[in-house]
Amino acid sequence: MERDIIIIGGGPGGLSTALHLARNFPELTPRILILEKALYPRPKLCAGGLVIDAEIILQRLGLDVDEVPHVDADQIHFDFETKGLNIRVPKRHALRVIRRDEFDHWLAKKAGARGIEIREGVTVKNIIPYQDYVTVETDQVDFQARVVVGGDGSNGVTRRCIFPKAPIHTARVLEILTPLRGRGDSNQSNPLAPKEIATLPASPVARNTCAGTQCRCDIRQKEAAYFDFFPVTTNIAGYVWDFPTQVNGEMMRCWGIYDTNMLANEKRPQLKEPLSKEMARFGYELEKYEIKGHPIRCFSPENQMSVPRVLFVGDAAGADPLLGEGISIALGYGALAAREIGEAFRYNEFSFNGYKRRVLRNALGQALIARWIVAQIVYSFKWKWFQILVWRIMKPMTVLIAWIFILNWGRRMQGTVNRAL
Ligand SMILES: Cc1cc2nc3c(=O)[nH]c(=O)nc-3n(C[C@H](O)[C@H](O)[C@H](O)COP(=O)(O)OP(=O)(O)OC[C@H]3O[C@@H](n4cnc5c(N)ncnc54)[C@H](O)[C@@H]3O)c2cc1C
Repeated sequence: MERDIIIIGGGPGGLSTALHLARNFPELTPRILILEKALYPRPKLCAGGLVIDAEIILQRLGLDVDEVPHVDADQIHFDFETKGLNIRVPKRHALRVIRRDEFDHWLAKKAGARGIEIREGVTVKNIIPYQDYVTVETDQVDFQARVVVGGDGSNGVTRRCIFPKAPIHTARVLEILTPLRGRGDSNQSNPLAPKEIATLPASPVARNTCAGTQCRCDIRQKEAAYFDFFPVTTNIAGYVWDFPTQVNGEMMRCWGIYDTNMLANEKRPQLKEPLSKEMARFGYELEKYEIKGHPIRCFSPENQMSVPRVLFVGDAAGADPLLGEGISIALGYGALAAREIGEAFRYNEFSFNGYKRRVLRNALGQALIARWIVAQIVYSFKWKWFQILVWRIMKPMTVLIAWIFILNWGRRMQGTVNRAL
């Protein structure tokens, strides 16, 4: 079968590419086909933290993320051994936390409503680019496409087929969902419980239990999200997190540990050890909960992002190496890939030469480079005194650097995604 644009993977990267194409090049909408191996709502291991840049991109697409069940954290703590800096954003939440099954399903429905065809339950097996077309082999039918977008995530087949020998930079990540205290391990003491947790009702149930796409979720309890970089001193180049979340309307906590693997040659404890330590501080026993792991393919300046007729977006191109944040990044890549594809059809030129250069020059690419540099510094200087300096002593400087170089790229990319090349 022939199709002009085949997008492999219906996560934020693939769906954002399609939605931006439909918005900026509407004549291409009926020529897009998304192939998604799962059926929505499909599980996706992810803490679901949406930063402001994700919300800006969705807003620009005319989408209201308030429709997705969520919990808003009014502050984010970046700590080293429980103390550090605290970020609030005036008059809005600091972090919105969604569940990925619900968020991606919602986004897919929005794409469908805008005339984009999504075939669920189709697994792509092989991708072979030729001069005039690309063959996409699936477990069902085979396709010939003029352009293919690899949006199939960190373990995607597209990268494996196109760059089988390219170096891989992957972070390892573990995640656990727990009920709030008051359930499960509630009999344990909690001497270090933060104020936010301590003041929550013993067994709160979110008011809105509707997972439908039209409802406005009203789970707005005062909550905080925590990142603690204490594992860095043990050669784990990352942090432990603890976010508020909701599952089917019930308030939960999402815990996890992220390790860029930058210190993989050093002696390190097992990944779950620091996570277990952090959870124990709040009275949770890690062993009592299901623990899940998944890699994140990280951005590095040497990552390749295209060959003629094939482009990569999202984790397949490279997520944020500093925090492993990838939802907003995937949405951002989608905007840039759509611009490339629109221009390719306009000029009938499909080499995608310079796609990576244009990504790196864009506000998204600048933020990725900044995060890559900061990750090299923060995780290489793993001594306690340095971490204390960054997260506790140099607070204003750290916040300023984050504000200028790391966040707010979504607003800055606005002009470029609408403009022709
Ligand atoms: C434990 C964990 C916690 C995280 N927490 C956060 C967080 O709090 N905030 C944040 O911003 N990011 C977080 N991330 C990163 C984030 O999940 C990813 O960066 C993001 O999902 C990337 O989106 P994507 O569209 O590139 O890929 P994905 O979301 O992985 O989507 C890829 C899609 O492709 C489909 N697919 C794969 N292979 C095939 C195939 N062969 N054929 C057809 N379809 C295929 C998959 O089913 C999937 O739907 C986390 C990641 C992990 C592992």
